[in-house]
Amino acid sequence: MTEPASANTFAEPILQEGLDFRLPQENDPTPRYSASQLGGCVRKLFWKVQGVHQVENRAFENDCYMNVGNTIHDILQARIKIRYPDAQVELEMPDIMIEPGEVLDTIGEQPCFTEPVFCSGRPDIFVHCPYDENMSFVIEIKTGGPSLLTSALPRYHALQGGAYWRSTDVDWVYFYLVNRANMARTYRLLETPWVQWQEALRVINLVERHKNEVCEPPLAQSFISKHRHCMSCGYFYKCYPGG
Ligand code: SF4
Repeated sequence: MTEPASANTFAEPILQEGLDFRLPQENDPTPRYSASQLGGCVRKLFWKVQGVHQVENRAFENDCYMNVGNTIHDILQARIKIRYPDAQVELEMPDIMIEPGEVLDTIGEQPCFTEPVFCSGRPDIFVHCPYDENMSFVIEIKTGGPSLLTSALPRYHALQGGAYWRSTDVDWVYFYLVNRANMARTYRLLETPWVQWQEALRVINLVERHKNEVCEPPLAQSFISKHRHCMSCGYFYKCYPGG
């Protein structure tokens, strides 16, 4: 009969709690819209555009996904520079300045702000067409699970692409999609980026209405899940003060 292994009182607490814990991350975000968040939680945007302090408790999985994603970005950006040295990576671009009139002219809504608002973002890769320097496109790299390659482009990616189309005035926006489990990959053209930008303007006007008129955050959309989105969100402490 095998003797039960005795507990190692030195090693086991370290193995159980020294590696796998939620890592606190705090920051004061820049008070403006960010292209990558336009299709996410509107409640989060409400606080973000006012620069409200973020307190994130990052899970082990999130840390890993983020770092794997960053590494894949670095590899792809290095590769394109080898074959196409003129391609620009992490394109520095001015913030998109959104005048109230753009909301009225583009989507026909009464703007809920009187001063311009700003949206920042940085496309992963920007390429001028070699045969016509007046034409250009951006490639936005996305990493995710297997469904990223087989499903429709998620709304938050599409709205981000719409913002890049608006800010860079490119002819095409492409997404390069990588399954981080096995590195399978494909690419996809963002159809009708102007429609995505219109949707982004609706989101921005909604958040501005809550900021300037309602003076309370909007309700989160139905696709926001407490477990999937809120637990790792920097505003968990605002939405769930009781934990
Ligand atoms: S905690 Fe959830 S509902 Fe609140 S801002 Fe974050 S994602 Fe949105």
